[in-house]
Amino acid sequence: MIDRHATAPEICLVFPCYNEEEVLPDLLQALKVLDLGIPTRFLFIDDGSTDGTLSLLQKACDSNPQMAYLSFSRNFGHQVAVSAGLKHARGDLIAVLDADLQDPPELLSQFIAKWREGFDVVYGIRTNRKESWFLRICYHNFYRLLEKTSNIQIPRDAGDFALMDRRVVEVINALPEHNRFVRGLRGWVGFRQAGIKYARPARHAGKPSYNMKRLTRLALDGLLSFSSAPLRLSAWLGAGAALLGFGYLVYALGVFMSGKDLPEGWTSTVVLILFLGGVQLMVLGILGEYLGRIFEEVKGRPHYVMNEYAGWLTEPSPAKE
Ligand code: UDP
Ligand code: MG
Repeated sequence: MIDRHATAPEICLVFPCYNEEEVLPDLLQALKVLDLGIPTRFLFIDDGSTDGTLSLLQKACDSNPQMAYLSFSRNFGHQVAVSAGLKHARGDLIAVLDADLQDPPELLSQFIAKWREGFDVVYGIRTNRKESWFLRICYHNFYRLLEKTSNIQIPRDAGDFALMDRRVVEVINALPEHNRFVRGLRGWVGFRQAGIKYARPARHAGKPSYNMKRLTRLALDGLLSFSSAPLRLSAWLGAGAALLGFGYLVYALGVFMSGKDLPEGWTSTVVLILFLGGVQLMVLGILGEYLGRIFEEVKGRPHYVMNEYAGWLTEPSPAKE
């Protein structure tokens, strides 16, 4: 085991960027004055931006040898951008931050101190959220649901803002799945993990690109790729419906045996058909969600298509010991 207090590790900060031209100048300025006390590199992943993000990155990398970027051929999504960043990052420590300054880079000094104490993953825990009350309720319940249903520890209220040791990143990079729910994969890896609380500021400039639809998709990815509880739920629902049907059959037989005429039956038939039909459709839907994800994995396509890269990424990477 290396002595983490004695070494001066090299850190690489990874920023996924999608249409961030409004906030990038401020971010680049903040990074210019950032001093973490150890050698620092920056890696920007341009996730197929359609605004001036790429040209801003090109300019920044031309003038600053600490910086590099790689760009995608189109928008592949935040989680894929983070994964690409982890793949191409260099150094002993890798940090993932949002480009909109919602994850303050200067907090990394505290993260590094925690790493020196022996933790391999240090992630940020959001103590306050500046989003609307409706979104806050959604986030709150999602993390609690995930914790209850998944078979691994996924820290509550932790996003992708984290510092990881090289050995953790190597494991994540080796995971083949296409559905990259990075904070889930990070939890799956194990090792010693710790959270640091921070008040998450509002987005510095520009607009968030996560709308309700994308957030729902991310939440579904998280739930379905880390938990088979929904499958179990569908089985229980099916069993419940069948039991209800059976109970009704017994009741109808009872009525028949007692010599009375069976009731007209229109209402009960309709209720049963609606109920069973509803349960069946729901179960099929859940199965479909899993099947769709299996289909994505089986196709085995690359996670992203690279457009171009520059900065220190063009230097040959040091041979791995
Ligand atoms: N992002 C990305 N690809 C996308 C959407 C977002 O790389 O398709 C980046 C974005 O530039 C930002 C981070 O992911 O750095 C978080 O996005 P955003 O601020 O929209 O999300 P929120 O802070 O609302 O979770
Ligand atoms: Mg944001």
